[in-house]
Amino acid sequence: MSEILVLVDHVDGDVKKVTFELLTLARSLGAPAAVWAGPGYSDSAKARLAEYGAEKIYVAAADEIGDYVAAPKAEVLAHLVAERSPAAVFLAATGEGKEVAGRLAIKTDSGVIADAVGVGEGFVAEQSIFGGGVNVHSRVTRGIPIITVRPNSTAPVAAAGAGAEEKVEVALSDAARAARIVERVVQEKGGRPELTEAAIVVSGGRGVGSGENFAIIEKLADSLGAAVGASRAATDAGWYPHQFQVGQTGKTVSPQLYIAAGISGAIQHRAGMQTSKTIVVINKDAEAPLFEVADYGVVGDLFQIVPQLTEEIEKRK
Ligand SMILES: Cc1cc2nc3c(=O)[nH]c(=O)nc-3n(C[C@H](O)[C@H](O)[C@H](O)COP(=O)(O)OP(=O)(O)OC[C@H]3O[C@@H](n4cnc5c(N)ncnc54)[C@H](O)[C@@H]3O)c2cc1C
Repeated sequence: MSEILVLVDHVDGDVKKVTFELLTLARSLGAPAAVWAGPGYSDSAKARLAEYGAEKIYVAAADEIGDYVAAPKAEVLAHLVAERSPAAVFLAATGEGKEVAGRLAIKTDSGVIADAVGVGEGFVAEQSIFGGGVNVHSRVTRGIPIITVRPNSTAPVAAAGAGAEEKVEVALSDAARAARIVERVVQEKGGRPELTEAAIVVSGGRGVGSGENFAIIEKLADSLGAAVGASRAATDAGWYPHQFQVGQTGKTVSPQLYIAAGISGAIQHRAGMQTSKTIVVINKDAEAPLFEVADYGVVGDLFQIVPQLTEEIEKRK
């Protein structure tokens, strides 16, 4: 079976969930080979990658790979593409993943498809565009398909792979050393999952009314182990930090469950959440456009419904 390279997304030695999704997807189309680039590789990382089907694990663990922005990872992948001629390369559709993909496409004279929500036979990628209103199927016709896949679009399923490890040494070019990382600031995370990775997201909009009122959104999120999101109206008003904005100019999320409270459903908001598997909308206006994409809708005052919902969930724990 032909090999599909999967760039491992990792932070401080921890493999991010999106990598397991990519390995699961790769397994349906070929033999997944994980590519670890940068420091932090360990036996536990190896075990996790093999658990989700990595037949091979290419390890380029030089510290220096983690010292520069994106470019070294593209060089590691380009080296492997030249040596192994894989059938495709999958990366996470994160800021970094997309940058690495673009650089890799140039280096290998290949086509790149960004932000896929699925990949089928023949590496036909599915993208959800225009606010989720249109689904596009496309295929790379030049070089090797390089595809970035949106986190949460595939459910990760464990299935043991051989996990055969192979060390990779790549001499980085001067160009790859052009942008050095001089400082890393750990973002205060609290106990909540990362927004783009969370299986459940609870978002609040202008209907929440104030920054203080976001406490009820947070309580519901915490009862479900969810991340908190917000519409641009809420972030522009300063009620919630911009990094939690969902939508065209914010984050794209695709969780199993998306709960929107007090959000009308402007196309720019839908663009960031429409591929969520189940959408629950709470809005006092029965005509709110977000109801059009809702699987479940509650017409009513969020200040009554959200606390009741939280209480009910807590009772069932
Ligand atoms: C270029 C561009 C990019 C943009 N990017 C984004 C983006 O990334 N993300 C984004 O979200 N928006 C984005 N916007 C803004 C977008 O067009 C909308 O203005 C915004 O999404 C509206 O946010 P909202 O739904 O919270 O507010 P509103 O549209 O004002 O809706 C508030 C809703 O709350 C309901 N409500 C009020 N009180 C209650 C209550 N007590 N209980 C229940 N429901 C209640 C109302 O019925 C209403 O439906 C962008 C706009 C532009 C032009």
